[in-house]
Amino acid sequence: MMDFVTEPARRVDVVHRTDVLVVGSGPGGLAAALAAARSGVDVCLVERFGCFGGNITVVGVEGFAWYRHEQTIEAGGVGREFEDRAKAMGAAVPESQSLSYEIDSEGFKLVADHLVQEAGLHPMLHRQFVAPVMDGDRITGIIVESKAGREAILAKVVIDATGDADVAHRAGAATRKTPPEEMQAASVMFHLAGVDKQAFMRDVQENPQTYKDWSSGEWSVETDGKEDDMFSPFLRKPFEKAIADGLIPAQLNTIAGTWGALHETGELTYMNLVHLAAVDGTDPDSMTRGEIEGRRQAMLAIEALRRYMPGCKNVRLRNFGMTIGIRDTRKIDAAYNMTETDVRQQARFDDSIGIYPEFIDGYGVLIIPTTGRYMHIPYRCMLPKGVKGMLVTGRAIGGDKIAHAATRNMACCAVAGQGAGVAAALAVRDGKELDAVDIAAVQAELKRQDVRIH
Ligand SMILES: Cc1cc2nc3c(=O)[nH]c(=O)nc-3n(C[C@H](O)[C@H](O)[C@H](O)COP(=O)(O)OP(=O)(O)OC[C@H]3O[C@@H](n4cnc5c(N)ncnc54)[C@H](O)[C@@H]3O)c2cc1C
Repeated sequence: MMDFVTEPARRVDVVHRTDVLVVGSGPGGLAAALAAARSGVDVCLVERFGCFGGNITVVGVEGFAWYRHEQTIEAGGVGREFEDRAKAMGAAVPESQSLSYEIDSEGFKLVADHLVQEAGLHPMLHRQFVAPVMDGDRITGIIVESKAGREAILAKVVIDATGDADVAHRAGAATRKTPPEEMQAASVMFHLAGVDKQAFMRDVQENPQTYKDWSSGEWSVETDGKEDDMFSPFLRKPFEKAIADGLIPAQLNTIAGTWGALHETGELTYMNLVHLAAVDGTDPDSMTRGEIEGRRQAMLAIEALRRYMPGCKNVRLRNFGMTIGIRDTRKIDAAYNMTETDVRQQARFDDSIGIYPEFIDGYGVLIIPTTGRYMHIPYRCMLPKGVKGMLVTGRAIGGDKIAHAATRNMACCAVAGQGAGVAAALAVRDGKELDAVDIAAVQAELKRQDVRIH
């Protein structure tokens, strides 16, 4: 018996043509699409799910700028607009450890709808990218699959903002995937209802947790020292008690982490407590196991909170994220790959498209930007090798592990996305290749769009 089938060649209808096509609508893709449209070209935004926002809305990641302190220096731009608009639309509450707002994952669906509609771009939800349309080594569009079958969308420039570099990978660009055993953990995110806010907050104040508390058991987190005594909305004690009492098996000492927002109505959201090793976000079998195991562990965590966390006696699961949260898969091998030194030593680049504070969170490192230190993000880290007509933005840009511990953060994805969107728009307007865009003109347009680039 054959273990493969051959698909017959088929004709696919072209359903849309555009200047700039953005695939994926997370912080990177949404910023790219808005920035390109505001630069004056036609833009189409394709997304596989029924809402825009990526991890914010489909996973439930609400901590958009939890690193921000008085001295923190940032780019502004579309990322800041996400927070400001969310706040203005009642979809954000003050965040507990920083000078920022926690974005409401449900409310942001509406915020993104408004932004997309105001920018006049062409939204295409419920379409999954499945294949590139190539003319030699140039990408000229994509094939999507949906309830309508297969459809083609053609574009002058394609921006891959899928997070996993799906388009770049299929188009033949050089990509690297972190080996699954080294990947940052995946998380099944959940939200709770029924918390007694007063009792919960009293315990938080009486037993304040700090970033130093992240290091214990399985985890060891390297800081600069300045982070160690700072408050963190961190929970581990209830789970330690649950292990001691046999409610949670000892090997699940990975159940611990942060809570996001505690609302007057008793909702406790963005529960980042489940950490699953070796879940490969490009392998649906691995993700299937992760979803089921993650939900099982979330329920153990909830039972532990009920028994051992003041204010949580009557909590119940409000919802899981629509999909498992994936932190780490493919990155492109870009014209320039950012390095650990770049993010730790305030890199400066001539082709900067925006700045990002010295915030590193991942691979066992935590640096909070309580100082005014910041780095430039170079345009070239979004330029893939081997494929023309394409930029890659968001968490799949080129860089080493520690560089990604900085650039994967949502506000940095928005900085990169806005840079990619403007560069793509100007390349179309000026009839230039993406590796020959006029960087000074890109920087001028970004400044016009309120981005700090130096
Ligand atoms: C559990 C968890 C907690 C985190 N906590 C924080 C935090 O507190 N603060 C922070 O700043 N960052 C956090 N991060 C990291 C951050 O959420 C991501 O790195 C960031 O969202 C990446 O942005 P992006 O735009 O590149 O991709 P994503 O946000 O992943 O968006 C990609 C979009 O592309 C769509 N897409 C993917 N493939 C296709 C396809 N083939 N066809 C069509 N559409 C497609 C997806 O549906 C999605 O909407 C966390 C991540 C996780 C998983």
